[in-house]
Amino acid sequence: MELNDVAGDLKEVLLTEPQIHEKIAELCRRIEADYADEPPLLVGVLKGAVMVMADLSRELKLDAPQDWMAVSSYGSGTKSSGVVRILKDLDADLTGRKVLIVEDIIDSGLTLSWLLGNLRSRGAASVEVCALLRKPDAAKVQIDVRYLGFDIPDEFVVGYGLDYAERYRNLRGVGILAPHVYS
Ligand code: IMP
Ligand code: MG
Repeated sequence: MELNDVAGDLKEVLLTEPQIHEKIAELCRRIEADYADEPPLLVGVLKGAVMVMADLSRELKLDAPQDWMAVSSYGSGTKSSGVVRILKDLDADLTGRKVLIVEDIIDSGLTLSWLLGNLRSRGAASVEVCALLRKPDAAKVQIDVRYLGFDIPDEFVVGYGLDYAERYRNLRGVGILAPHVYS
């Protein structure tokens, strides 16, 4: 659906679909240059990263395989705690592989920080991060993001894979959720 279809639920439009696609294409050109000798294994984190993975992997002119993980971050409401549980593990063996984690958003950074440690401990040759969005003002741990789309304000956003109570994932753009929706 379009940003307009849920305009009443959004406080502000942050990113339109063309803006997102343009940025993803930029990131893909850098990834292609950096992985010219060996395509990375793209690791997506369910469910939020589904849209980024779909668009990024198809834009990429590299034969890069995909794998998926599902993790749950114990926490209440809209904040994560950093205590992470694996709900679905990777199918691939990471030994000697170049891994590129594909993420929707880095908020506190706690989930990704845990994930980086976990994947690095499996003997990958390298583990890098590509994230469409980052909230710099919400960071509790610093994450070294090799490929970043946009820095955004510390507000709850939805769309392009990101949900509020499983809603809005199918929104083509990204917007700040209006407070009346969750209060
Ligand atoms: P972190 O551990 O605080 O960095 O949060 C990680 C996860 O929380 C992300 O991968 C998202 O799934 C979710 N998340 C964080 N911020 C938002 C948001 O603004 N909207 C929707 N989901 C979010
Ligand atoms: Mg996520």
